[in-house]
Amino acid sequence: MKRMNTSKPSRQMIRCLILMMLISVTSLACGNTSEPKVTPVFSAERSYGYLKKICRLRSRMSGSPGMAEQQKIISEHFRKLKAKVHFQSFDAPHPLTGNPVRMNNMIISWYPETKKRILLACHYDTRPYPDLDRTQPRGLFIGANDGASGVAFLMELGNVMHELKISHGYGIDFVFFDGEELVYRENDPYFLGSKYFANQYKTQTRDFEYVYGILFDMIADKNLMIYMEKNSIKYAPELTRSIWQAAQKTGVRQFIPKVKFEIRDDHLPLNEIAHIPTCDIIDFDYPVWHTTRDIPRYCSGTSMAKVGKVIIYWLQNIP
Ligand SMILES: [Zn+2]
Repeated sequence: MKRMNTSKPSRQMIRCLILMMLISVTSLACGNTSEPKVTPVFSAERSYGYLKKICRLRSRMSGSPGMAEQQKIISEHFRKLKAKVHFQSFDAPHPLTGNPVRMNNMIISWYPETKKRILLACHYDTRPYPDLDRTQPRGLFIGANDGASGVAFLMELGNVMHELKISHGYGIDFVFFDGEELVYRENDPYFLGSKYFANQYKTQTRDFEYVYGILFDMIADKNLMIYMEKNSIKYAPELTRSIWQAAQKTGVRQFIPKVKFEIRDDHLPLNEIAHIPTCDIIDFDYPVWHTTRDIPRYCSGTSMAKVGKVIIYWLQNIP
């Protein structure tokens, strides 16, 4: 054990400390008065509880027992909340063996009779291996942020759906994409679930349409910083700006109104195949990305609640 330095603080240090305390007290007070309350409230604690529960299933690779358990948890959760639960199933060849893997996109519908709809999506599979882990690239990948955060976020949002007054009376679908990352080698195909979903949307006869889509990926980093993403600005500029405006209005400074990364994610098939203007809300500055340390310890319910506050405001103020 190491002993801390216990020498007496100097008078200058004390003055400095008092000044710092004063600054933090005033900024807190200002923060409270300028930050509008948003109702209903997205619970940080509950969302973090869901995240831990999903992570206890360990690997949730497409076609795995962990994935089957997860589907049960999600179905039960949303059926209890009186939403309509639908599985969109298809087979995809396993990238190594070519054998068919059963894939399931899960579609949770609120106000299913409504013809103009908003799509809120995440992926719920985890990648086979933590390939960027320096010591255990073939270790167990838990995917707390990269996988479970999107699921936990939509589960908690589900709890407040009946209290929301959605703008324009839009219907809402939560979609959980399978097969985002059934990837062993860099050339293996990504986004199997969202590609299938987008193709179905494009080719099947249907009597509804999606006005906008929002994808949530890696939104639980303890140190949350969400920049605008290049493909989202390219395909859905108005939507993307409206979300960052909602963040500004609700005082959520973790949404930074600058473009930083260009990311290939499930929003690409939605934009390019289905032509649904879709924005990816993703915090790509995550130091333990694709490692064995993507575990709940590096995640926070408070971060998910920040995103929740913005989205709850946005859903009630859609331009
Ligand atoms: Zn990933």
